[in-house]
Amino acid sequence: MSASPALDAILARIAAAAQAAGRDPAGIALTAVSKQQPWEAILPVLAGGQKVFGENRVQEAIGRWEGRRDGLELRLIGPLQTNKAREAVGFFDVIETLDRERLALALVEAAGRAGRLPRLYVQVNTGEEDQKAGIAPRDADAFLDRVRGGLGLPVEGLMCIPPADEPPGPHFALLAKIAARNGLAKLSMGMSGDFETAIAFGATSVRVGSALFGDRAAPVA
Ligand SMILES: *Cc1c(COP(=O)(O)O)cnc(C)c1O
Repeated sequence: MSASPALDAILARIAAAAQAAGRDPAGIALTAVSKQQPWEAILPVLAGGQKVFGENRVQEAIGRWEGRRDGLELRLIGPLQTNKAREAVGFFDVIETLDRERLALALVEAAGRAGRLPRLYVQVNTGEEDQKAGIAPRDADAFLDRVRGGLGLPVEGLMCIPPADEPPGPHFALLAKIAARNGLAKLSMGMSGDFETAIAFGATSVRVGSALFGDRAAPVA
């Protein structure tokens, strides 16, 4: 029997969505979003062979994964405060939420000290929602120029979280368009409710939490 039927099911859905879109399933990675999940929920997914995990808070991620992360890739998918940049640079393999100049400067500084730099994604606020992090779509090209050219930070791709109350397709399409015109090949988009749609629009990684682990515990205030 499989260690994690839930993991098998998500991987099968990713493969089916890739096939439906005429894409190679190998081009789509699963980020298992382990935030607010108890260790008992994570263990079977680890045993099933999952290697990439996403977390949205620096401290919580360190508490969960420190000492247990050998051979794993940990991705920060939540907003990053500049005063946590150093910890984040020291801990994560990928930071998906670069969205402002001050944070870019803090990452440069932290990387210089640490002698390491996580792979970076720029988060785009495709719905221009006040409560959501991310660079506005109209500012994305200039921001990418500044980060890559001006500050010399390599950017691997773009990330977005579409508004909860709108069809996600146009948001995924917009993110793909911004990536294409900036020569970026990687797109982190799609969550439990919409990852198949994201794959149709070109996602190269999908961030799946509740569909894989079950409902999360209430966030710690
Ligand atoms: C929590 C979270 C997810 C996972 O959400 P689910 O709907 O549980 O799959 C994905 N991306 C980000 C940025 C998140 O914060």
